[in-house]
Amino acid sequence: MQRWQNILKKSIIHGADLPLHLGGADEGIDLTSRVYPMRINPYYLGLIREKNDPLWKQAVPTSEELHDTVCMEDPLNEENLSPVPNLVHKYPDRVLFLVTSQCAMYCRFCTRKRKVGTSRMVINQESIDAGIDYIRRNTQIRDVLISGGDPLLLTDDRLAGILTAVREIPTVEIIRIGSRVPCTLPMRVTKKLAALLKKFHPLYINTHFNHPAEITPEAAQACRRLADAGIPLSCQTVLLKGINDDAETMKELMRKLLTIRVRPYYLFQGDMTRGTNHFRTSIQTGKEILKSLIGHVSGMAIPTYAVDAPGGGGKIPLTPDFILEEGDQLVFTNYLGKTCFYDNAG
Ligand SMILES: *Cc1c(COP(=O)(O)O)cnc(C)c1O
Ligand code: SF4
Repeated sequence: MQRWQNILKKSIIHGADLPLHLGGADEGIDLTSRVYPMRINPYYLGLIREKNDPLWKQAVPTSEELHDTVCMEDPLNEENLSPVPNLVHKYPDRVLFLVTSQCAMYCRFCTRKRKVGTSRMVINQESIDAGIDYIRRNTQIRDVLISGGDPLLLTDDRLAGILTAVREIPTVEIIRIGSRVPCTLPMRVTKKLAALLKKFHPLYINTHFNHPAEITPEAAQACRRLADAGIPLSCQTVLLKGINDDAETMKELMRKLLTIRVRPYYLFQGDMTRGTNHFRTSIQTGKEILKSLIGHVSGMAIPTYAVDAPGGGGKIPLTPDFILEEGDQLVFTNYLGKTCFYDNAG
């Protein structure tokens, strides 16, 4: 067994095992984790400093998850947009291919919490073969986004099998892997894994960090290994109430991502996923945070703020508005609030 597998095996999955300094066990944790599983591996547990801190909130179940009467099981309508189970075909030229139900930690705000880490997400060789077959038959698919769960929790051999099969399809141009492992279990990114991934270029990795405290020397090393293997790294952050919904935290996170060679890609408005309503902020909050970034930090540090439309409409950018008037002359305000003008041509 590899070191990362050993670490993962020691994860906390019962409330009773939650250390006292993090609040210890309570009934809410146990009731909730029976519906929405808990898994906090020793690495991520070690980053949590106290009860209710931003990392605790991402990892520890609370009874609020069971009392959400606003949100939906499957807000993005993924199940109906799956021509074969666990392959979501929403946009013409790209698919989301779910290859495992396991994650290194079960995030409380997960969009797929209806099934991730549970027996409701059935993935086996047969479903994976069906997905690959679908991609092969639908030649308009250029971009395959491999996700889950977390694909990097598969063994090197299983992962290599899937990547080889996808890479063999001549109409597939790029492969993307969505993984939170660089953040939640960075020791999974072994030298061997980086060497393996390198064989499947053009390959991109979208990772997922939500708070500056997640950017540790271990995470930096994992990202360095991947970047040194020529893999462009980006980040899909989720805007989360009480975790990162203030300008200073977000600014620090985005800046720090660049220092570990990760380019911010999306900042997602929280999906309307059942069990996550307590994490949602208003769109106004998100726009104000974006406004505090634009012009004030490197443009490289600015993600696209977007909402994934309920019902499966796809991602819609929510750019803060700088335009005051749009006629023969464009009147706009700059990042410092100064009014500027531009003569509209033709
Ligand atoms: C997010 C998503 C994609 C990828 O969208 P990009 O904007 O290209 O990153 C593809 N398919 C599904 C179903 C998605 O949810
Ligand atoms: S790592 Fe991703 S898929 Fe897994 S629980 Fe977290 S948000 Fe969900």
